[in-house]
Amino acid sequence: MPMADAVPAISIADLSFQFSNNTRSFSLKISSFKIEKGERVALVGPSGSGKSTLLGLICGVLSPLDGSVCVLGHHLEKMSGRERDRFRANTIGVIFQQFNLLPYLSVLDNVVLALEFSKHRHLSISNKQSKAEKLLTFLGLGEAEMRHQKASQLSVGQQQRVAAARAFVGEPPLIIADEPTSALDQDRQAEFLETLFSQQKANDATLLMVTHDLTVAKQFDRVLDLRDICDLSKNQVAGS
Ligand code: ADP
Repeated sequence: MPMADAVPAISIADLSFQFSNNTRSFSLKISSFKIEKGERVALVGPSGSGKSTLLGLICGVLSPLDGSVCVLGHHLEKMSGRERDRFRANTIGVIFQQFNLLPYLSVLDNVVLALEFSKHRHLSISNKQSKAEKLLTFLGLGEAEMRHQKASQLSVGQQQRVAAARAFVGEPPLIIADEPTSALDQDRQAEFLETLFSQQKANDATLLMVTHDLTVAKQFDRVLDLRDICDLSKNQVAGS
């Protein structure tokens, strides 16, 4: 386990959030939880319980109704939308379930693009292109694939690796991943986790990943069950 730093990677207090539409609503209330810098945490919980919503709040794409979401000492609830976007680009590498690669860009350009939005990640490297190439090579993508193939031409396993490279390029201190292994077979899953952990360690980053697979979750420093930090009884949640 890493040593606790005075400033946690993520700290949430008295948070309340609500999605509302005409037919139903979903609310999330969390009184407190923390993730220390350098921790690897697996977030688990029933489907529909709010795991992706919580990641959205931590990434600042969703805003709480009340309470605080503090990432690496920065209060997201005090920032404007633009400030949150800038903070996210500089600080957080995100891997989505559907990878969200831009289909018409080459593999390499998909990774380099992550650096274009970030002043910090942009300035911290001398040559974005070569940094992205090095990372893609490390993740098993060949020279021809990265330069000439569009993201839309890749297999699921390859897309996965490009999404990981995009999250890690420029060494952001926080990696957020939403079920990144769910589309992979067992061998590829193990391979991907190994890559994720080795990059996280090399960059001294904090990793928060949603998974529904308990054998995957057990490989993390800590398993955080959403049911232990919030009351789900007001929502209709599968299996709760
Ligand atoms: P999980 O990741 O645990 O499966 P989610 O965070 O995706 O759960 O969803 C939690 C709840 O919020 C679900 O009931 C879902 O339908 C609802 N929800 C998600 N996104 C929206 C949205 N944009 N508008 C309204 N409800 C939403």
